Amino acid sequence: MKLTSLDAPGYEKVVYAEDEASGLKSIIAVHSTKLGPAAGGCRMFAYPDIEAAKTDALRLARGMTYKNAAASLPLGGGKSVIIADPHKDKTPELMQAFGRFVESFDGMYTTAEDVGISVEDIEEAAKFTSYAAGLTKGEYASGDPSPVTARGVYLSCMAALKHAFGHDRIEGKTVALQGLGHVGMYLAGHLHEAGASLVVTDIDAHAVAQARQKFSARSVAPDDIHDVDADIFAPCAMGAILNANTIPRLKAKLVCGAANNQLADDAAGEALLEKGIVYAPDYVVNGGGIINVSAEILKITDQKWVDQKVEQLAVTTDKILTKAKALNASPHKVADQFVDEILAQ
Ligand code: NAD
Repeated sequence: MKLTSLDAPGYEKVVYAEDEASGLKSIIAVHSTKLGPAAGGCRMFAYPDIEAAKTDALRLARGMTYKNAAASLPLGGGKSVIIADPHKDKTPELMQAFGRFVESFDGMYTTAEDVGISVEDIEEAAKFTSYAAGLTKGEYASGDPSPVTARGVYLSCMAALKHAFGHDRIEGKTVALQGLGHVGMYLAGHLHEAGASLVVTDIDAHAVAQARQKFSARSVAPDDIHDVDADIFAPCAMGAILNANTIPRLKAKLVCGAANNQLADDAAGEALLEKGIVYAPDYVVNGGGIINVSAEILKITDQKWVDQKVEQLAVTTDKILTKAKALNASPHKVADQFVDEILAQ
């Protein structure tokens, strides 16, 4: 395997690996180990070239530094990407080679699942590295993080209600929920149980049918979810969903969902503020999954440790929204500042 260091100012270590035998082309980016060894998932995507893969790896690794710090985890930020089509190129040999690549970081970075990478893939990599988490077998195995992510988003949404509506009752509120995948479906369950009405969408008709049946949800076409007359918008699909096209169409007073990187850019955060929409920062509210995975990394078996940290996400959300209101600032900027202060200590 050929390893090449990549130049990335502000990052601690970024390496590109190419393995001829397995076809692996991968980048591991460690942004910061200030709070502990770096942790973050591995994404498999058919990037057009190494530069595009590097850009994504750097952005995601930095995002993990912020997410882990906001969740008060003793972990730094890192991420890996594999340049391959998850539907065509995945082989056990490829994932094993990736495991060897992770091992070459000697504990500076621990990997886990992300888009395009399943539990089975990580278990294949784990045959060649001790630094892989999100496993289903083993003394500290933490399994699927999605239900924990959904719980953290739900609790944070409850904490954000009073900032948007002046009270904390979810009964009778309408939530427009985009994406009924691993996290979205669990979140829909929590909201339904608490008495919210759901308007859902997904490109997967089967998931939509399931939500209609289980939660008496109404459904709309994927492109129409931003126009729904809802109180809350919960993005649980892809990133950059809050942008110049979608924000003017939103009727909701609160945005709180699981998706990573919801704001297309800084201007999107400012546009939400101007429109009087409360934005619960994504990397604060969706930290439940990494909290669950971190218990495995840190070899913690006490479920209470996970539960308390997940509950704390709602407290942090409340704190950030309170400060944002006092400063009339965008909550995403206040969240960044909150983490920058932790990192500066
Ligand atoms: P997933 O792939 O299981 O679900 C995503 C869902 O969105 C799928 O059902 C998909 O069909 C749907 N979708 C895709 N494009 C869509 C569109 N244009 N309109 C409507 N629906 C669309 O992913 P997930 O694990 O549920 O994660 C959802 C989001 O939350 C992602 O952004 C992910 O990065 C983020 N996240 C997930 C976790 C976790 O624990 N799984 C943790 C933190 C953040």
